[in-house]
Parts: sequence; C-alpha cells; structure tokens
Amino acid sequence: MASMAAHADAPAPAHLQLRNVGKVYHSMNGDLTALANVNLDVREGEFLSLLGPSGCGKSTVLRCLAGLEDASSGQVMVNGKAVSGPPEGLGVVFQRDVLLDWRTVMDNVLLPFEFAGRRKLTDMKPHAMQLLRMVGLGAYADRYPWELSGGMRQRAAICRALVDEPALLLMDEPFGALDEFTRDQLNLELQRIWAETRKTVVFITHSIAEAIMLSDRVAVMARNPGRIVEVIEIDLPRPRTLMDRDSARFSQYSAHIRAIFDRMGHAAQ
Ligand code: ADP
Ligand code: MG
Repeated sequence: MASMAAHADAPAPAHLQLRNVGKVYHSMNGDLTALANVNLDVREGEFLSLLGPSGCGKSTVLRCLAGLEDASSGQVMVNGKAVSGPPEGLGVVFQRDVLLDWRTVMDNVLLPFEFAGRRKLTDMKPHAMQLLRMVGLGAYADRYPWELSGGMRQRAAICRALVDEPALLLMDEPFGALDEFTRDQLNLELQRIWAETRKTVVFITHSIAEAIMLSDRVAVMARNPGRIVEVIEIDLPRPRTLMDRDSARFSQYSAHIRAIFDRMGHAAQ
C-alpha cells in the first residue's frame, strides 16, 4: 500500500480541554444527566479512546467536541478556544458510514471540499486517490458505495474524514458494526494512518482490546451519571500488532480495565 506524507499546509494537531463539563437532557420523563463533571485534556497528536458501556455519554462528549451540541455546564475548548459550532480542521467518522449511495467513492471522499467550496475539486483528486490507495481502495474510486462491503465503506468514510487534513479526528465507534476480522485489519490501518499523519484522535469504542491496541491513553467512563472514572496511560511500544494482544502487559491492561467495570457493576461490552 502507498504511504502518505502529510500535506505541507496541514494544520498542527489540535489540543482539547473539557472542564467540568455537564450535559443534561430534558425530556417528558424528566431530566437525564448524560455527563457530570467531565474533565479531560487531550494532547496535540494524541490518540485517546473513550471506553465505556452504552449510555455512559461517549457520543455526547464527541458531539460537544464536534460543536454539534452545547454542554449544559462547564467548558469545551479546542486549541484554547471555546467550541461554538464545528471547529476548523475537524474530521468525523460515525458508527454507520454516511456515504451517499448515488455518488462514486471518489465523489464521496471529495465531499468536504464541495461543502467548503474552497479548492478546485480536480486539484484534490490526486490527494483523495492517494488516500484511497492507502486503505486499499485504489481500484474502487469509480465504484458506488452499494458495491462495497461494510469494511470497504468504512474505509471510504475514513478517507473522507482525512481528505481535508483535519487537525482533529473524532471517531464514534467507527468499527462497531464490522466483523472481528475486518475490525482487526482496520485497527492496524488506523494505527498506521495516525502514525503517518499525526492527528489528534478521539476514538470511541466499547471494546477493551480495541482501546488498548490503539490508544496512548484510555478514558474509562461509567453511566448514571455519565462520567470519566479513570484515565489509563497505555505504555506499550508502537507499532502494535494483533499478536501483542496476547502479551502479558496487554493482558494486564485489560484485566485492570475489566476490574473497573466489575466494580461499577456492568460489563464493558
Ligand atoms: P453512549 O454514546 O455512551 O452510548 P450517549 O452519549 O449516546 O451514550 O447517551 C448518554 C445518555 O444520554 C443516554 O442515557 C442517552 O439515552 C441519553 N441521550 C443521548 N442523547 C439524547 C437526547 N438527544 N435526548 C435525550 N437523551 C439523550
Ligand atoms: Mg454512542
């Protein structure tokens, strides 16, 4: 697969700050505290995972960082500036890829430029093609999403999130719907992309192994109310391989995280 150097004009990776962030949803059944007192710093170029059971507020954190939702209290900052609307240089990948079925893979990847209306699309094609090749989709640029497998679609969605050289990549369970084998392959690919392009990444998962495999740090969350209970530094050499998951140190991390969930009284996955 082709390797990729970051664009010369790629922005510096972002740093993130969450200060006493709270989020309350109001509904007919009363108020629900989705987040309480969340404090977290994500360093420039760091790969950080949010790990926790369903309903613990992972997506809420991500939507607040993406400027798609306001916190009810506290502060959410990207590069020292309070977030109000999607910050500049943002790439997002959701659990279900949101490819447009009537556009080719290439035209889906180029979509962010069309929205921004900044650069000539034809100028960006070589870069988009380079990304597609990097994830093994070079031969599929002119195909349509419905001709692709789930894993290939998710790869295309990742290319689209990367194409505009984001300083910040937010990924909400991007591999959650994929079979284990495909997920493993995409974990390796994501690790490589991150190593080559050095974005700040916030990655949501409910898989302990996936979080350890990919992350510099794992923020473990619990629910009712949604909160961060522990942030764990994953001090394992990179690049990490799938076999590393069987190593003693990897197992120690998973046992440690599992014990946190046991104490909370719910399984992680
Ligand atoms: P996760 O991504 O960890 O599964 P979410 O951030 O989606 O958790 O949700 C956290 C809590 O907030 C859940 O109890 C969920 O039902 C609730 N919630 C999320 N979005 C809304 C909303 N728009 N209105 C009301 N409640 C919501
Ligand atoms: Mg979610």
